[in-house]
Amino acid sequence: MDDLRRTFRDMTDETRMRPETVAAQALGRVDAETRAVIPPVHVATTFIRDPDNQYRAGYEYARDDNATVRHGEAVLTALEGGSDARLFSSGMAAAAAVFQALDAGSHVIAPRVMYWALARWLREIAPRWGLSVDFVDMDDLDAVRAAVRPETKLIWIETPGNPTWVVTDIAALASIAHDAGARVAADSTVATPVLTRPLEHGADIVMHSATKYLNGHSDVVAGALVTAQADDFWQRICTHRAQAGPILGPMEAAMLLRGMRTLYLRVDAACRGAAAIADHFSKHPKVSHVLYPGLADHPGHEMAARQMAGGFGGMLSIRVAGGEAAAIATAANVQIWKRATSLGGVESLIEHRASVEGAGSPAPPDMLRLSVGIENPVDLIEDLEQALAAG
Ligand code: PLP
Repeated sequence: MDDLRRTFRDMTDETRMRPETVAAQALGRVDAETRAVIPPVHVATTFIRDPDNQYRAGYEYARDDNATVRHGEAVLTALEGGSDARLFSSGMAAAAAVFQALDAGSHVIAPRVMYWALARWLREIAPRWGLSVDFVDMDDLDAVRAAVRPETKLIWIETPGNPTWVVTDIAALASIAHDAGARVAADSTVATPVLTRPLEHGADIVMHSATKYLNGHSDVVAGALVTAQADDFWQRICTHRAQAGPILGPMEAAMLLRGMRTLYLRVDAACRGAAAIADHFSKHPKVSHVLYPGLADHPGHEMAARQMAGGFGGMLSIRVAGGEAAAIATAANVQIWKRATSLGGVESLIEHRASVEGAGSPAPPDMLRLSVGIENPVDLIEDLEQALAAG
């Protein structure tokens, strides 16, 4: 099956295409039978055996593998510059697959500022399998070095990190991890391959909540892993997906493929909108702080300028000068922004993160998280202006 995967990839001209073209044409694949520009969705759960009991076409059962899913994986492999990818039923399923591939007794270093539900899972569930986890400020390299132990097998990073957008130096973390015989896995959901390709900076595995920018339309839950090397650790991840079954469904894979066709346009629009909004509200009397890696006063700005190409992302947070009650009232008064969780869709979302994340959250109580979509930024600025005034 691995040979078939390689052949499938090698048959494309992906090495000659620029990323925008790879995404727009989903690697340029057409249906061999009809010449349709959009390949069919493969929904079969089972496949005919050859008379000698082999499965030479490479497909056996849909929990293990699926041609539509493979197409999405090939696109992502190309966009991230990896050697292989797997799609999962959610971002959490993708992340969990990495941790489940570690041996019991392994030690993990994870960021203090990261997607809260994964942090909760690492605190509550991972120890039951014999993993120990330390949460560290990833922008403090000495703190990361001090946390490394002989049993450290994985450094998990998220950059920019939810919800204050801490920026992590992927190359420095990869060097610390590799010196210790550990791997680096990077949650690159917010950066997307448009802005950062973590494997080029030394990460071993890239993870995405494909629910966010990769799909981009708030209508699919999906996750992805892309690996630099198809090594033994990667094989464990693949075996876990095939045996435990957290594969993405074919319909969702087809919707994700459609979403990825416009990834570069959407991320570019979101970056421009976020930059305009960050700039406007950084001078606003009702806003005490704007947290956005694109602003010169953000602690991660210099690193982001080196590591992110083409923009600083579509995510930012604002701290409302009037405090927690004023922040919640501001979210209550928006008309165009959608008061909802998640991020990376074409529509802009606003959320009071401290209420979502609860005790121990790095989100200050006066903070609102903003996911900027592709609307006209002037509408978004005017709406937030009136909501701040009413709040
Ligand atoms: N990583 C980040 C940065 C996220 O924002 C999320 C979801 O919000 C996840 C991972 C989890 O992804 P999913 O919701 O697809 O399981």
